Amino acid sequence: MIERTLVLLKPDAVQRALVGEVLSRFERTGFKIIGLKMCYAAKETAGQHYADDEQWLRSVGEKTKKSYEAKGVQVSEDPLEIGKRIRSQLMDFLMLSPIVAVCVEGHGVISKVRTMVGATAPSSAMPGTIRGDFAFDSYGLADKSGRPIQNLIHASDSRESAEREIKIWFKDEELHPYQRVDEALLYRKVE
Ligand code: GDP
Ligand code: MG
Repeated sequence: MIERTLVLLKPDAVQRALVGEVLSRFERTGFKIIGLKMCYAAKETAGQHYADDEQWLRSVGEKTKKSYEAKGVQVSEDPLEIGKRIRSQLMDFLMLSPIVAVCVEGHGVISKVRTMVGATAPSSAMPGTIRGDFAFDSYGLADKSGRPIQNLIHASDSRESAEREIKIWFKDEELHPYQRVDEALLYRKVE
């Protein structure tokens, strides 16, 4: 099950000089970086990445509404509208400064990278994960500040999203298959 996944080092990761640290975590796991570029996200690309998907927009809106209600603040706005506002904040954040797009390949890479990345809100991400080790942002702080959660990194959450997202950020010729010297051991088979 050799898979590919898309990772974005968001503007906060680049501005905080965490690019090498994060890439090295993937490399030392045994995964292979086959695509890597620094770029400014164009508005169109940011819009494709954070797709205008009603189900996702509603779920983000519901989550925000609940976090306010837990603090005793009643919100009358439709979750879909809240979701749309967060999507627009996410797009603005992605375009704030350069990002690094990465395509990583390996056995079971999609779920393993998600585990390494940690929970969406760094405030509750486990120590040892990228978000848990290098950030502390929370839904509360983000919502109060009118911005999306700054959690350093995006990683595809399924085979379908990986396939969709890799196409958004990389042309075929920008992905470079090659052999790692330790692959003979990592994928060793006993006859
Ligand atoms: P991820 O897969 O863990 O990155 O999380 P999602 O795909 O659900 O959300 C995408 C991004 O939107 C997250 O990485 C956060 O930066 C941001 N985000 C998600 N949910 C919320 C929310 O309820 N409020 C705010 N302010 N930002 C959110
Ligand atoms: Mg996601």
